Amino acid sequence: MISSSRATVTRFAPSPTGRLHLGHAYSAMLAHDFARERGGRFLLRIEDIDPGRTREEHVRGIEEDLDWLGLRWDEPPVRQSARLPRYDAALERLKALGLVYPCFCTRAEIAASAVAPHGNEGPLYPGTCRALPPTERAQRLAADAHCWRLDMHAASARAGALQWRDAAAGTVIAEPETLGDVVLARKDAPTSYHLAVTVDDAAQGVTDIVRGVDLFAATHVHRLLQALLGLPTPDYHHHPLLTAPDGSRLAKRAGSPALAEYRKAGMDPGTLLAALRRGTPLPPPPGRPT
Ligand code: GLU
Repeated sequence: MISSSRATVTRFAPSPTGRLHLGHAYSAMLAHDFARERGGRFLLRIEDIDPGRTREEHVRGIEEDLDWLGLRWDEPPVRQSARLPRYDAALERLKALGLVYPCFCTRAEIAASAVAPHGNEGPLYPGTCRALPPTERAQRLAADAHCWRLDMHAASARAGALQWRDAAAGTVIAEPETLGDVVLARKDAPTSYHLAVTVDDAAQGVTDIVRGVDLFAATHVHRLLQALLGLPTPDYHHHPLLTAPDGSRLAKRAGSPALAEYRKAGMDPGTLLAALRRGTPLPPPPGRPT
C-alpha cells in the first residue's frame, strides 16, 4: 500500500440497488481497515443517482449490514441524490469549456453502430452526435431526450498527459480515450457515475480510494475529470475481486448470498470478517445449496 503523510480518508460507496453481498463486505472492510490502521476516517456514501434502480429498503439494508459487521462510518452518510446541484455545476463548467455535447442516440442505435464493447463500460460510443450541425443540435435540445457526453478527444487534448498512483499497479498513465465519449449526465438522471464520484471524492476529501479492480478502467476517466475540474487526485487501491470457491465472481446477479442471509442464519459477524481478512472462502449460509 502507498504511504502518505495526509490524514487518511477512505469511503465505501455502494449503489442501493440490491442487498450487500460478500464482495461488498470485502471492499468495505478493506476501505475501513485502511483508514483505521492510519488513524484516519472511513466514510459511507450512498450512490443513489439511478432513479429506476434505487430502493430505500436497500439504503437501510446497507446501513444495517455494515452495522452488523461492525464497520462503523465516521460522519452521517452522504447521499448523492441530495447533491445534484453540485454535479450540475461541474457539468456547466465543462459545458463552458466546450468539452461536452448532448447526445440523442437511443441504446439500440448505439448498440447497432458501436465500435466494440469495452470492459464493463458497455459499447464504445461511435460519436454520432458529436458532429451534429449546430442548428440541428439546438432544435433537438429543446425537443428530444438527451444525455451529455464528454468530447473525449478535446478533453484529453486540453488536459495533456496525466497519471495516477495505484497501490498495485504503481504509476499509471491515464488513457481515458480508450473509453470513448463517456456519459456525464444521463437521460434519466442529471449526472452519471463518473461525474458524481469524481466530484464527491474531492468534496469529501477522500485521500485513498479503495475499490474493486472492476473499476480500474473508470479511473482513467476520473483522473481526466479531476484535471478538467481542478480537483485533487487521491491515491488508488484497486483490490482483486472476491471469488466463489469455484473461481466465479461474487456478484448479486449471479445469486451469491447476501450478507443478510448470513445474519439470518446466525453467523457471527466477527467470524465472517476474520475470514474475509484472511481471504478464506466462506461456505454459503446454512440452508443454501453449495
Ligand atoms: N457505486 C459504485 C458501485 O456500487 C462504486 C463506486 C466507487 O467505489 O467508485 O459499484
